Amino acid sequence: LIEATGITKSFGDNKVLRGIDIRVPRGSVTTIIGPSGSGKTTLLRALNALDAPDGGVVRVGDVEIDFSTKPTKAVLKAYRAQSAFVFQSHNLFPHKTAIENLVEGPIVVQKRPKNEVYAEARELLERVGLGHKENAYPSQLSGGQQQRVGIARALALRPKLILFDEPTSALDPELVGEVLKVIKDLASSGWTLVVVTHELQFARQVADQVLFTDGGLVVETGPPDDVIGNPQNERTIRFLDRVL
Ligand code: ATP
Repeated sequence: LIEATGITKSFGDNKVLRGIDIRVPRGSVTTIIGPSGSGKTTLLRALNALDAPDGGVVRVGDVEIDFSTKPTKAVLKAYRAQSAFVFQSHNLFPHKTAIENLVEGPIVVQKRPKNEVYAEARELLERVGLGHKENAYPSQLSGGQQQRVGIARALALRPKLILFDEPTSALDPELVGEVLKVIKDLASSGWTLVVVTHELQFARQVADQVLFTDGGLVVETGPPDDVIGNPQNERTIRFLDRVL
């Protein structure tokens, strides 16, 4: 469903991505792990074309962008419309209620009918266990609840895939589980997900494929029982020794 080849990105002299390839089949879950600063967030933002990489090709469905030439606004828009991004901390509109946060994009940007959008938004809040909180403002919700609203908001856009950037790293430890549970639920119902995470146990449980990145490259990739359970590369082994 999503395929990227030869993704490169530098910030000044700092070569953050040195030629990354990634392929995520429809209905599968990919987790991306690696040391802090190894470029995981930068990669995810490139996959969504939130920040254009310097080079490489990305494709979601039938929309492709080759970054060797500057893409037009129309192509970028068509590309971005296919995926939704869940940030480290939710980025909800603080002056809008939970349900207003969900319906904003579908009504204002996608111009879908209000009745339909509200009905779907209520179902999505139920799905993340927050049906009773539709009129709460973000400040009245816990961090875990806010992040679950963030996930429901991504789903409300009806994306083909969802990209998660360390969705639990801003949460207190006791709130991590409820958010991971929602992501696991999406995974088992056939969503296509790409998740950057420091939660290795979760990365192993939920993934069809794990990518270990270090130094701007994909160092090791494969099924979780191989990459996390029985890593072959020296750098993967050292990383897992440090964090497990
Ligand atoms: P972490 O796990 O700590 O979030 P990461 O693997 O997601 O790290 P990135 O956030 O992608 O790593 O950052 C990779 C490198 O790129 C870092 O050295 C960072 O300082 C640099 N970097 C990221 N964004 C920018 C930016 N907008 N301008 C300049 N440098 C940046």
